[in-house]
Amino acid sequence: MRVLVISDIHANSTAFETVLEDAKNQWEYVWCLGDVVGYGPDPNECCDLLQSLPHLCLAGNHDWAALTRLDIRTFNADARRAVNWTRETLTIDNIAYLEALPTTFVLGSYTLAHASPREPIWEYILDPLIAALNFPHFETPYCFVGHTHTPVIFQLTDDRGDTEAHQPVYRQPKHLNGQRLIINPGSVGQPRDSNKDAAYGILHVEDAVFEHRRVPYDIKATQDRMRKHDLPERLITRLEHGW
Ligand code: ZN
Repeated sequence: MRVLVISDIHANSTAFETVLEDAKNQWEYVWCLGDVVGYGPDPNECCDLLQSLPHLCLAGNHDWAALTRLDIRTFNADARRAVNWTRETLTIDNIAYLEALPTTFVLGSYTLAHASPREPIWEYILDPLIAALNFPHFETPYCFVGHTHTPVIFQLTDDRGDTEAHQPVYRQPKHLNGQRLIINPGSVGQPRDSNKDAAYGILHVEDAVFEHRRVPYDIKATQDRMRKHDLPERLITRLEHGW
């Protein structure tokens, strides 16, 4: 089975639709690693579109924030404004959908979490040290995470816990080879690695072959809808810079 691996759509339906078009007919199932909503202008459209696909989805911190499950006083002012708008905008059905999302999932050789296997909602795996501390917290060879909005592969290189970070080589299938890896596909709707293109991945589950991908989308279309809904300007401009 081939799986479309996506994360951090963040209510950006233009980016989401572009990813689906780019990966058309190349997958049978979707793994979504959370943060379907928050920041962007299309929370209901993204929930509806995801639910129309054969998929599983995890809860992210922004999904929980929209459900008032999290105290958002730690969010910055722009994020708080976007969370409040998202809360007011989500339909009852989509709130119920987000309420039911699990925080982790284990499928065969793969563990899935939004943020990290150790702290599925909160922890940012931004460097090899944090990745190293997470390898003891899952039992499968491979773990997929999102949350940082940065595509990367962390590899455990020995049993002392030494860990390396590998930058993705886009559109080049990579054999995972039974090594212990933490893989981040990057963010569909709000990339933060100075590359403004939507990020996603394709996994061949049985062969353990993964391919990181990027695809440009119509950023201005998303920005125009954000302005229409009076979302914070900083959240609008960041999309065109990829941070
Ligand atoms: Zn996110």
